[in-house]
Amino acid sequence: MTAATLDRARLERLMAREQRTFVDDHPRSAALYERAKGSLLAGVPMNWMVKWPGAFPPFVESAHGAHFRCVDGHDYIDLCLGDTGAMAGHGPAATIAAVERQMPHGITHMLPTEDAAWAGEELQRRFGLQFWQFAMTATDANRFSLRLARMITRRPFVAVHEFNYHGSVDETFAWLNADGRVEARRGNIGPQVDPALTTRVLPFNDIAALEAALADRQVAALLIEPALTNVGIVLPEPGYHEAVREITRRTGTLLIIDETHTICAGPGGMTKAWDLDPDLFGIGKTIGGGIPAAAYGFTADVADRIAADMDLEDCDVGGIGGTLAGYALSMAAIRATLGEVLTDAAFAAMIPLAERWAAGVREILAGRDVPWHVTRLGARAEYHFMAEPPRTGREQWEHGDFELERFLHLYALNRRILMTPFHNMALMSPATTEADIDRHSEVFGQAVGELFG
Ligand code: PMP
Repeated sequence: MTAATLDRARLERLMAREQRTFVDDHPRSAALYERAKGSLLAGVPMNWMVKWPGAFPPFVESAHGAHFRCVDGHDYIDLCLGDTGAMAGHGPAATIAAVERQMPHGITHMLPTEDAAWAGEELQRRFGLQFWQFAMTATDANRFSLRLARMITRRPFVAVHEFNYHGSVDETFAWLNADGRVEARRGNIGPQVDPALTTRVLPFNDIAALEAALADRQVAALLIEPALTNVGIVLPEPGYHEAVREITRRTGTLLIIDETHTICAGPGGMTKAWDLDPDLFGIGKTIGGGIPAAAYGFTADVADRIAADMDLEDCDVGGIGGTLAGYALSMAAIRATLGEVLTDAAFAAMIPLAERWAAGVREILAGRDVPWHVTRLGARAEYHFMAEPPRTGREQWEHGDFELERFLHLYALNRRILMTPFHNMALMSPATTEADIDRHSEVFGQAVGELFG
């Protein structure tokens, strides 16, 4: 049996039909969008929101657990979960209760609360690093880690994987051009500095490239997700992380692991599950249950080096900090979310749901001989438009198919399922149910049937 091939004319016809359905089904969102166009750039409060697959995004009325309701009264299964910001489920009861308890006692004081000490101890227990600081966003946590790494190593460069995403961190938006040289990647909006001056870029899973990038000992830190998740899931090959740790240690390069998304692997993220032993560590989004909060951590050795370089009189001048960072409300939210919501027991239920999702998608693809691969990382799973799993971010990116992806997302949205945008990913929360997953399989089966039947 030969593999099914995609008929582009059919895809275009189906997409036009789905676009009409979406508009017909969402008159209130359409009206709000028209209104918002008068005051918001492109009609949305944040520029990425133009990329949802319909003619406009559905406006949300309310969200609870693994579902949300749009202003047109439709109830959706949410497999995007605020791209991990709501991985704890929308409005987890324990987080809401803790936030409500804290609010009358002060939202932000620029002073510590007892919850901060609890949060430091819990992060230490989960991820193994001894010392912690807090920030508002994962972007900030990563920026601060890079600055500290530059300060203590006195080296000018950072290194990242090609097709990484670590938030809007200037140095990271770089790729390799056809000559293998670092340049600003497509979509890097108004780079402040040519990234070739700040950044070394290496393909994921490429040990020789890593060795070459770090050999001259000019790289302060290697900032990585332990598996790529933002271009699509790309898993590390056996031995890759051992090599990363050995080469970074040998060259005196600090290893910073960003677990903002890969926390889906388990309560201690991939760091714990794979015994990764980073020098610095960052995480954001989900740890506050949706309340802005992020954390970055250090080993005792890194903390000593920071202390040796940090002057009391100047410590507030610039580079790291944030007036609201570590604010009381976020500390209460972290305590409740990590202590009561994203628990070991929650992961033990979420991971089988992702397995169920992946099995459902695989079965449908196999049934029609569609040559797409399915990858899972803990409570997150994804299908790729390629037969083999991608080894590098570039491989995944080159197999991207913008029209096909938009169609599948809109098809799901019209049947009340929200996928993670920008690639084909589904994330589980403690509130997600088997019925939610089985509905996805049913809808995905219909989409594949219409495309390839
Ligand atoms: N790190 C990773 C791995 C991410 O995926 C993201 C966001 N997608 C960030 C950092 C930045 O998070 P935020 O936009 O909340 O700062």
